[in-house]
Amino acid sequence: MIELNDVRKVFPARGRGPEVVALDGVDLTVRAGDFAGVVGPSGSGKSTLIRLVNLLERPTSGTVTVDGRVLTDLPADEVRRARSSIGMVFQHFELMDSRTAAANVEHPLELAGVGRAERRRRSGELLDLVGLGDRAQARPAQLSGGQKQRVAIARALAARPTVLLCDEATSALDQASTTGVLELLRRVRDELGLTVLLITHEMAVVKAVCDTAVLLEAGRVVDGGRLDQVLARGDSPLAAALLPAPV
Ligand code: ATP
Ligand code: MG
Repeated sequence: MIELNDVRKVFPARGRGPEVVALDGVDLTVRAGDFAGVVGPSGSGKSTLIRLVNLLERPTSGTVTVDGRVLTDLPADEVRRARSSIGMVFQHFELMDSRTAAANVEHPLELAGVGRAERRRRSGELLDLVGLGDRAQARPAQLSGGQKQRVAIARALAARPTVLLCDEATSALDQASTTGVLELLRRVRDELGLTVLLITHEMAVVKAVCDTAVLLEAGRVVDGGRLDQVLARGDSPLAAALLPAPV
């Protein structure tokens, strides 16, 4: 479960520029096991929101709670441990090019002090899970975009997180790879019982995988709910945003 309460994030002024209110009183609840989407125009605060859940950013005010733990109250040394229960997947994969797929997946386990044999066992299991059991020794340059994202998902799952955050995880992929990665995310959610929060600017992505969604505009949640209910409402701004653009 992910809960944001009255979260505000202000980036201080730089040079002569104004301060930026990236998030302005955001309330958001994602129930355990739900697949939730955040949509909104460029600059609306989507990435800032997801980075707050991982405490890569600290809110200026308000609270962030994950699985009952108020992350914003934790002292710095406990933040790192709390973070290991939260996996994250990025638009550009962020794999280490010099390392094999297996070594990329093992990296978080290495940092956590897990022994070599156990790391090997776990990376093998995870690469099987994402359908790349036979590519364990490939380096990122030898993999397609979709395969790289599968490795990144396996790595995000290495520390057995309860929450998976995806920031534009399919935006760099073609249609076929996007479909494959979304099916994989749904499947790991189902099999591992994860709570997933996914950011996208692609409405088709939300329709394909999300149980719930919110629409963010200028740092505020302007609409949201369970997707079937949102789509049934005639006057929903989110439903309107989810309609394919007229050609
Ligand atoms: P996009 O769809 O383009 O990725 P987004 O919805 O993810 O956009 P954010 O990256 O969250 O938007 O940015 C929200 C606002 O906060 C923007 O005005 C952005 O310029 C500003 N912002 C984000 N990060 C910082 C930062 N580190 N310092 C200053 N301003 C920032
Ligand atoms: Mg962004």
